Amino acid sequence: MTLHEHERIVSADKIEIKPVFEDRYKKILGDRYAEFMEFSMSYLRKCVRVNTLKISIPDLKARLEKKGWVLEQVPWCKEGFFVQGHEEMDRFDIGNLPEHALGYFYVQEAASMLPPTVLFSDIKENDADYFKELKVLDLCAAPGSKTTQIAQYMKNEGVLIANDVDISRLRPLTMNLQRIGVKNMLITLNAFQYSKNNGKPRNPFGEEKEFFDRILVDAPCSGTGTIRRSFKALTMYSPGLIRRLVATQKTLIKHAFNMLKPGGTMVYSTCTQEPAENEAIVSFLLNQFDNAEILPIDLDIKRTPAITEFEDLDIRPETKDCLRIYPQDNDTEGFFVCKIRKNA
Ligand code: SAM
Repeated sequence: MTLHEHERIVSADKIEIKPVFEDRYKKILGDRYAEFMEFSMSYLRKCVRVNTLKISIPDLKARLEKKGWVLEQVPWCKEGFFVQGHEEMDRFDIGNLPEHALGYFYVQEAASMLPPTVLFSDIKENDADYFKELKVLDLCAAPGSKTTQIAQYMKNEGVLIANDVDISRLRPLTMNLQRIGVKNMLITLNAFQYSKNNGKPRNPFGEEKEFFDRILVDAPCSGTGTIRRSFKALTMYSPGLIRRLVATQKTLIKHAFNMLKPGGTMVYSTCTQEPAENEAIVSFLLNQFDNAEILPIDLDIKRTPAITEFEDLDIRPETKDCLRIYPQDNDTEGFFVCKIRKNA
C-alpha cells in the first residue's frame, strides 16, 4: 500500500454515508454497489494528457521517462498516460515539474478525457481546411480540462468559445488556456437558465442561431463518480440537489441543441452515476427534438450497460448507446457520455 492509499482509506472511515444515498445507489448498482463503494473509497490513479500544441507525444513521454517517471498508456485516449509512480522515489507530484509549468502536459483524470475524445472521434487529423472553418462551443468550460483538450484537437484553428456561468471559475480557466497555449478561444460568461421574470428559457447567444459545428455540454452534476477524488459529492448529496441539477441540465442540453448546426455533433457528459441526470436528460432531448439522434461510441474501454429502465424515469431505449462507466470498470472516476447528432 502506498502512502496515498493509506491516507485515503483512513479518512474514508470518517465519512458518513447518508441512508438516502445508500438506498438510491444500491438500487442503481444492485450487486455492484459494494465494489463501487470500495473503489470510491480508494486512491485514484494520477493521469496526464500530453499537450500536442506544444510537444509531441513521443517527445514528452521520453522526457518524463528519462526523469524516472513510469507511464502507462490510457487505452481510450492516445494523448493520455497513467502515472504509475517514480522509479526511485515514492512520489506522484508530477504537476510540480517544469514541463507542467511550460504547458507540455495537463494533469487530467483519465475518464475526464472521454468527452472531447468522443466529440472529435470522427475527424480526420490531417483535414486542415476542416479545422479552419470549425466553430466549437464548450458550454460549461471551467476550469478548462476539456477545453484545452478540444483546442489541441482543433490544432488552434477555427473558433472555440469557452463559456461558464461562474466568474470565479473563469480565472483558473484563463490560466489553464494560457499555460496550454490556446490561441483560438473566446471566453464568455453566460448563464443559460430559465428567466426568473417570465419562466421562459434565456439564451444569451441567441436561440435562432444554429451556429456551432460541435458543442460540449459537460454539465454541472451531483458528481457521484468522483467520490474517490473528493468526498464532497457524498456530503452534498440530496434528492433536492438532484432535482435542481436536473432542471439546469435540461435547460443546458436544450439550448445547446438549438445552437447546433444541422449535421453538427454534440456531446453531453457528466461525472455522476445518477440516471435522472444522464439517460433521462438525453431522453428529454429526444422527446423534444425529432432530429436528435444518439450515435454509438466505439472506444477501447470497459463499460457498464446504460440504464434504459429505472423506477418512473422516462428513459428512451435509444440511450443504450450511451457510455456509462463506473470507477471499478477501468479503475478511474465514474462517467457518463452521450454523443448526439442533429439531423437535417
Ligand atoms: N468542463 C469542465 C472541465 O472539464 O474542466 C468542468 C465543468 S463542471 C462539471 C460544470 C461547470 O458548469 C461549472 O464550472 C459550472 O460553473 C458550470 N455551470 C453551472 N451552471 C451553468 C449554466 N447555467 N450555464 C453555463 N455553465 C454552468
